[in-house]
Amino acid sequence: MHNAGPKVIAWEMTRRCALRCQHCRGSARDEMYEGELSTEECRKLIDGIAAYVKPVLILTGGEPMTRPDIYELARYASDKGMRVVMAPCGHLITPETAGKLKAAGVQCISISLDGATEASHDAFRGVPGAHARTMEGLQYAIDAGIAFQINTTVTSLNVDELPAILARAIELGAIMFDMFFLVPTGRGEALRGLEISPEQYERTLLWAHEMAQTAPIRVKTTCAPHFARVIRQAPTAPDAPPTPAACHAPPTGATGHPHGHGGGRPASTGCMAGQGFVFISHRGVLQPCGFLDTASGSLRALDFDFRRAYEESAVFRDLRAHERYEGKCGVCEFVHVCGGCRARAYELTGNYLAEEPQCTYVPRREGSA
Ligand code: SF4
Ligand code: SF4
Repeated sequence: MHNAGPKVIAWEMTRRCALRCQHCRGSARDEMYEGELSTEECRKLIDGIAAYVKPVLILTGGEPMTRPDIYELARYASDKGMRVVMAPCGHLITPETAGKLKAAGVQCISISLDGATEASHDAFRGVPGAHARTMEGLQYAIDAGIAFQINTTVTSLNVDELPAILARAIELGAIMFDMFFLVPTGRGEALRGLEISPEQYERTLLWAHEMAQTAPIRVKTTCAPHFARVIRQAPTAPDAPPTPAACHAPPTGATGHPHGHGGGRPASTGCMAGQGFVFISHRGVLQPCGFLDTASGSLRALDFDFRRAYEESAVFRDLRAHERYEGKCGVCEFVHVCGGCRARAYELTGNYLAEEPQCTYVPRREGSA
């Protein structure tokens, strides 16, 4: 159980974004949001983190590149010793901005591909031409020498396209392919019917495990915490190649996180919410993850004392206490490596300690009860 300070922090620098992706966690719109942190506050926030830990810092949104101060803030965090990475949509990457990202110390970006074809990607992203513009931006980033990973939000619409998307990621030169399993919150709530079934989860996770052993790039899953259980139950390929380099890996140890950055093979970490991973909202409020909207300390109110906010959060303490988990997760022998998705539990029941609804496993203690 992790309580030594976060290794990965995802920072929603703004909610502003021109796209209208169906699954958007933040239900982002193309307008200024009230209460976003000023440049000065952002610097204080970075100072507060740096005084405590030197994590992987994921600059995300919304579209982080809509902030005019993005380059100076990335530089500021890099100079404080953090590994700065970014999750842009790609549409604002030009030869000029790609060069500025590189100069600001951004070490890697994640680009989302949600379909194997232009049509399926655009349908999901909600903007015609989104695929073409994303690919154009990605090419500028590649030309500037910025490493990248490909992220895919897994739904019933594209689950059969995953092998083709992985092949595309390899062809493009990505260093990692990360499958995000849909968490129906934010705009994604409307997509509840597009979640794959628990049985499809099992099959997809087994395929992901096989690919993680054999693909020439790193393959991992995000927000399917029971992957940690599935790979422990599955036979492991005896001649698996060494772990390929990860894009947004934390400086030490193997971890994963809900924005697709991190982890060492076998990419087996479960839910990271509040356990080595932290999400910071556009207003400077801590959350265990971007999908678990339980305010866990306002950095503004604490004068950006990040350590205090992280260590004193009652929600984070709850999440670290696996013995408090309920339902079958509470009696599961895999709870310490998996934990179940706390956001899905919360969305369904209003209780973030309830059992994960998308897991087919029957724990031994529950089965014998
Ligand atoms: S609660 Fe855990 S598994 Fe669920 S979305 Fe958040 S980090 Fe992912
Ligand atoms: S029952 Fe809960 S803790 Fe156990 S494998 Fe399933 S999701 Fe994970």
